[in-house]
Amino acid sequence: MVATISCSCGYSGPGQPGSKGLVCPLCGEPAVAAPEEKIWRVPCPKGHVFRAPESWMGKSMVCPKCNEQFTLQISDSLEKKEELRRRQEQADAKFAKTWLNRAIAAAVLFGLLIIAMVVMSVIRR
Ligand SMILES: [Zn+2]
Ligand SMILES: [Zn+2]
Repeated sequence: MVATISCSCGYSGPGQPGSKGLVCPLCGEPAVAAPEEKIWRVPCPKGHVFRAPESWMGKSMVCPKCNEQFTLQISDSLEKKEELRRRQEQADAKFAKTWLNRAIAAAVLFGLLIIAMVVMSVIRR
């Protein structure tokens, strides 16, 4: 069996055996095996999760489990949702940290104020 190749010239199909492995039958360039496509996990509207290669994105699918028709979209994939969730968490963490810093700064200022007042009252005595 001849491995399928995808060439930079646009050819994709069976490679031609050459002296250094497979070459492209169109342009003669040494070819690399077709790269593994990224698999996205995309849920149907009812939540059944599909594993679909990137080239299927934008195509409509019918879920074999519930027969719902839907369009495969990277933005709907669990990977993207996970990424968004992680980004949101990072943003939340940053926000919380900012507030914590402000609270600490306020507490320090308040402490200094108390010390200043105590010092003042001692000096006045
Ligand atoms: Zn080629
Ligand atoms: Zn479904």
